[in-house]
Amino acid sequence: MARYTDASCRLCRKEKMKLFLKGDRCYSVKCAIDRRGTAPGQHGTKRTKSSEYGLQLREKQKAKRIYGVLEKQFSKYFDLAEKQQGVTGENLLRILESRLDNVVYRMGFASSRKEARQLVLHGHFLVNGKKVNIPSFLTKESMVITVKDASKKSPKFKILAEALSGRIIPKWLDVDAENMTGKVVLLPSRDDIDLEIKDNLIVEYYSK
Ligand code: SF4
Repeated sequence: MARYTDASCRLCRKEKMKLFLKGDRCYSVKCAIDRRGTAPGQHGTKRTKSSEYGLQLREKQKAKRIYGVLEKQFSKYFDLAEKQQGVTGENLLRILESRLDNVVYRMGFASSRKEARQLVLHGHFLVNGKKVNIPSFLTKESMVITVKDASKKSPKFKILAEALSGRIIPKWLDVDAENMTGKVVLLPSRDDIDLEIKDNLIVEYYSK
């Protein structure tokens, strides 16, 4: 499956905000946004005024980049969000949050969404007892995500288990760090999603 291969920090600099694409580095002094913060390229320091369309486009790009989703799939998520009851922008973010790679990251089983995606692809997780290796798998309420028994013994997951105790887990998820398992208690509401994304602008972008 296609994915972004551009240097992650350039994407953050382009959006002028932290997209948290590199795990622990994003919280350290090495973060490119904290060090530079300007857009990449020789004109990165120029101040430009964005058009209405430009602002809408940037919000869509931010969301795509945060969740590591390409255009075609993002547009499919938007169609799905429109068909659901409720506010389309909120529905869209809820769908993105419910992706298995995001849930694995939010549960603390990976330090970034990118790492979570790799771990899912490599078959380290069970959903309701069955192996699922599709990062875009959409989880639902009451689903239980577990690290496979064989994987729990690997050094990688031992380190992750130790780091888990310090992680803040969103309230819509319930995690048992000792047993490396977690449950989707309830899919999140907009207030549960701590991202600086103006989802209304994404809706406007697709409504043209
Ligand atoms: Fe973005 Fe900073 Fe993380 Fe790089 S280290 S991906 S700039 S948040």
